[in-house]
Amino acid sequence: MHLTFWGVRGSYPVPGAATVRYGGHTSCVELRSESGGCLVIDAGTGLRGLGQKLAQEARDPGGTTYNLILSHVHWDHIQGLPFFEPAYIGDTKIVVHAPRAAAKELRLVIGGITRHEFFPVALDAVPADFEFQEVTPGKAFDIDEFTVLPIGLNHPFGAVGYRVDADGSSMAYVSDTAPFDRMLHKQHFTAGVEEPNSDDLAILSEMRANLVQSLRRVDTVIYDTHFTKGEYEQFTHWGHSTPDHALEICHEAGVRQLVLYHHAPAHDDDAMDKIAEQYGVRGKRMAIAVCVAREAMTLTMGEATNPGFGV
Ligand SMILES: [Zn+2]
Ligand SMILES: [Zn+2]
Repeated sequence: MHLTFWGVRGSYPVPGAATVRYGGHTSCVELRSESGGCLVIDAGTGLRGLGQKLAQEARDPGGTTYNLILSHVHWDHIQGLPFFEPAYIGDTKIVVHAPRAAAKELRLVIGGITRHEFFPVALDAVPADFEFQEVTPGKAFDIDEFTVLPIGLNHPFGAVGYRVDADGSSMAYVSDTAPFDRMLHKQHFTAGVEEPNSDDLAILSEMRANLVQSLRRVDTVIYDTHFTKGEYEQFTHWGHSTPDHALEICHEAGVRQLVLYHHAPAHDDDAMDKIAEQYGVRGKRMAIAVCVAREAMTLTMGEATNPGFGV
């Protein structure tokens, strides 16, 4: 399997001179199997560029099915959808897999961002046929040659990560998530997050154990490391982690390669260089190769020495 980053930011896009090396688009990853099968993870603004490539690639426009798996429906993970070029090609099917109480509700959510007040073309009016599939943490499913396992995460109103296995290799996408010491996945985004009671702690501890279990022996893990340590202390209720949290989980799961992802908009290229250097060294001490996600970076799963991993 190969993966390519089309968007690596969290929260909102930050194009410009200060982010030109790491990129300014929000969350989007392209996953390819050896036989060319494609799976798209998250639909942030990076999806626009990927959609252009996919539309050009389609030898016979139309008749193609695209599968998108979404971590959740916060803006930075869906904002590229209205600009996904294959949606405007007739006889195309786009299957969106995402966590939600009901697939019907998911159609309403995604349809909501293309209401006429926001966007000129309604979801039901685009030439492509959209299908919505609900995913449930712990219930694996197959998409062509990919086996996909959704993993429950700790984020305001919930999010799921995904472990994907194909071609005898594996990767996991863990975004967005906070560490598992206070309850966020059932709550509004509020500053006054209450201290967890014993029931909450039991649930959080089970979520964490399940995440570690799901990541066992995964080749490469992409992890939400939005914050530095100092930033995290100020914004524990935002639902994001630090590279230290990611390293701790990956170490327990025996993961060899960690990609830092979902960069805070305020982290410019120089800040990302420092994070890369600092955690490259820290990861090495724990026998984990750490790199920072950059737009257009491609990694091959299952290779011990990935050119992207400068440890
Ligand atoms: Zn996000
Ligand atoms: Zn989010």
